[in-house]
Amino acid sequence: MQKEVGIIGAGISGLLACKYIKAKGFNPIVFETKHNIGGLWTKTLESTQLQTPKQFFQFSDFPWPSYVTTHFPTQQDVLDYITAYANHFDLLKYIKFNTKVQGIEYQGDVNSYGKWTLSVKNNDNNSTQVYTVDFVILCIGRFSDVPNIPEFPINRGPEVFGGKVIHSMDYALLNAQSATELVKGKQVTIVGFQKSALEVAMECSTLNGTKYPCRVLYKTKHWNIPDFLPWGIPLAYFYLNRFSELMVHKPNQTFFLCLIAILLTPLRWAFSKFVESYIKRKLKLKKFGMVPECSFHQDISSCTVALVPEKFYDKVEEGSIILKKAPRFCFCKDGILIDEEEEEEASSLNTDLVILATGFRGDKKLKDIFVSSTFQNLIYGSSNEIVPLYRDCIHPHIPQLAVIGYSESFTNLFTSEMKSRWVAELLDGTFQLPNIKEMVKDVKEWDEYMKKYSRQNYRKSCIAVLHIWYNDQLCKDMGWNPKRKNGFFAELFEPYGPLDYSS
Ligand SMILES: Cc1cc2nc3c(=O)[nH]c(=O)nc-3n(C[C@H](O)[C@H](O)[C@H](O)COP(=O)(O)OP(=O)(O)OC[C@H]3O[C@@H](n4cnc5c(N)ncnc54)[C@H](O)[C@@H]3O)c2cc1C
Repeated sequence: MQKEVGIIGAGISGLLACKYIKAKGFNPIVFETKHNIGGLWTKTLESTQLQTPKQFFQFSDFPWPSYVTTHFPTQQDVLDYITAYANHFDLLKYIKFNTKVQGIEYQGDVNSYGKWTLSVKNNDNNSTQVYTVDFVILCIGRFSDVPNIPEFPINRGPEVFGGKVIHSMDYALLNAQSATELVKGKQVTIVGFQKSALEVAMECSTLNGTKYPCRVLYKTKHWNIPDFLPWGIPLAYFYLNRFSELMVHKPNQTFFLCLIAILLTPLRWAFSKFVESYIKRKLKLKKFGMVPECSFHQDISSCTVALVPEKFYDKVEEGSIILKKAPRFCFCKDGILIDEEEEEEASSLNTDLVILATGFRGDKKLKDIFVSSTFQNLIYGSSNEIVPLYRDCIHPHIPQLAVIGYSESFTNLFTSEMKSRWVAELLDGTFQLPNIKEMVKDVKEWDEYMKKYSRQNYRKSCIAVLHIWYNDQLCKDMGWNPKRKNGFFAELFEPYGPLDYSS
């Protein structure tokens, strides 16, 4: 009998998993709580564009249509592209729309072959149905649904504030008219300094100008980039080729690779400084007091680099956006209290509306889908360690289950596609997983790698600067040749992207 594979989510990761699973002759059933495909791309801010140049954010066997000429397509372009992909590979018939998986439970002994039961709510009629499958692939996304809300002291949270507090994900759900009504003529404070924060700040400042400047509170300055061409050279040549990966210590590395990484440390530093000098000059960061303390290398290794919207710093210069450091903040009746680093007294900011662009809790979302507290604790792991996934995909102690779309990279579509192919080959018996002890050891090595380069952001599981190395491991497992370029110099210096793995 063919294996039934339950895929939860019909965003990019779920569609990819479905495509590769069905190609191996399995029966995929995709559960999607929304009425459409595309996941978070179905509703973003109107101004959202792709952050990654499109050549790196494309399906390996389905390039962008030629009429999309820009490097950074709009949200609608991305959604159309995803839809065309799903239609081309005839994926829609496998998707059960408006079905929310409320919980998954393993039936059987974890050491022998069991099945998963999925409790699925039909959003149309509120009925619940139980499905039994052989394997589960969690593609539930990590940038939606469960917001990361900062913790506040008692009586110092949003409940004491007289104004309104929303998370950026709720702001993104508003249509243009409702968003305008919410923001226009108000003193708005945005918390955060990543992609969503920058985009929301642009919208608010465009609506309110200098009369009601929009304040952006940030904890840490980041090397957000104006473009991908530092001093005219594509960034990919510094961080997305094999040569750049030689400069980084790797999990499970050999003595030889370790030695090379040590010898190339000055070059890694020089590359980072080169890019930093460009960003500093182009965005006039010194003038605005926005030069980050960390290196560009640390930021890109932590996936904390966002593309700065065009004219963002022009708005800072004209005064319609005010940037303010706030290592800690809390609420009072009229606004926000900020703990100043140098001063004893907290300073206060009167405000009408606070938009928390403080990210998401993808780890909690993963945890909550399990019914059993044992599995919940296993998948969450310890907050002092990375989410423990072998190959960023399989929990060593949770049988017959894979996670796709949790770890981050420079291009998440590319990462999800590689993982989907790997999981399909695993299910097809092309290779076997190592034993639990070896998988745990491998996860530990990745944990050390993440902590070394991503520092406090290790839970993001960012594989950006080791993407080729990571793909190499998957290729070796699947019996593919990891070297995909023609010739020694191309292999060493040419950036790697999805099309390198098209066959
Ligand atoms: C504004 C924004 C811009 C981005 N830009 C880029 C970019 O430029 N480059 C890049 O590489 N990455 C970018 N990302 C990251 C983005 O996560 C990936 O591009 C990709 O879309 C993630 O796809 P996914 O399928 O893993 O997750 P999602 O798109 O979040 O899809 C998950 C799906 O699972 C469904 N689901 C969740 N729980 C359940 C459940 N219990 N039952 C049934 N269905 C469920 C959801 O409804 C959703 O449809 C961006 C993220 C955001 C928020």
